[in-house]
Amino acid sequence: MYKINIFATNLCNAKSLKPVSGAPGVCDFCFRPLEKIETSENIVREIVDNLDLINICEPITITGGEPLVSKYVYPLIELLVAHNHRVSLHTNGILLPQNKSLLPLIEFISLPYDGNRPELTDYYRGAGYFQILQSAFEIAYDYNLNIGLHTLTTPYNVPSLPDMGFSLQKQKYYRNIWYWYIKKFKKINSAVFVDTSQYELEETTYRTAVANMKIHFPNIQIIESGQINKEIKTIFIALNGDVFIYTKGKTQNELVGTLTRDRLDRIISEIK
Ligand code: SF4
Repeated sequence: MYKINIFATNLCNAKSLKPVSGAPGVCDFCFRPLEKIETSENIVREIVDNLDLINICEPITITGGEPLVSKYVYPLIELLVAHNHRVSLHTNGILLPQNKSLLPLIEFISLPYDGNRPELTDYYRGAGYFQILQSAFEIAYDYNLNIGLHTLTTPYNVPSLPDMGFSLQKQKYYRNIWYWYIKKFKKINSAVFVDTSQYELEETTYRTAVANMKIHFPNIQIIESGQINKEIKTIFIALNGDVFIYTKGKTQNELVGTLTRDRLDRIISEIK
């Protein structure tokens, strides 16, 4: 069975926010793909048709970059739904207020949750991001979406993890929380050039912090980096048709084929 992540674009609007004083640059830890993704409606259709050829673990995740900056994200989601797929949107939420018409088509949303107060959230994501995130949670709640949370644990926010958990329990959207992915910095793709001292946690510190969170918050599905389900393989498909996999230890996702030249079932049959 295959978990599908679609890179709608590698562009992102995150840097429209200004860094806060004393913080590293906005989203400098980001490990989105480096390659520009050029596509067309025909290629989008070809990708969705190809998904019918394999056994998929739903929902399919639309990610980026920031998917909502791509004009192809609407036709992509409409086609996926027409092909009976369930859709999860991984977004920073900045453009969510302008894109509410898309939300009845999706059941799942995932948002960055790097802190429960502005001095944490804005530190890595830019001034004003805390307010943007609160609006995104409100919108997700109003549309009754299942909410996935992605936390990049760093030396700066790791002491606040328990507080972040308690804060979640007080929110009206608490019952909508689908999972909480507490992840470790990964030096891959666009993040290979980054000063890791800002972001990297020592392995034991990281594992212990997550283990404690699992004990204290048993009602939240907490996922950690490297937690692999061997029954499900993750495939990344860029919206230009390129197909990638991630192999532990590599500094870039590995290109394994392209859907403008071959079929997805044939490409993934070659993957070891
Ligand atoms: S981490 Fe997310 S929001 Fe930040 S630059 Fe990367 S894709 Fe954009």
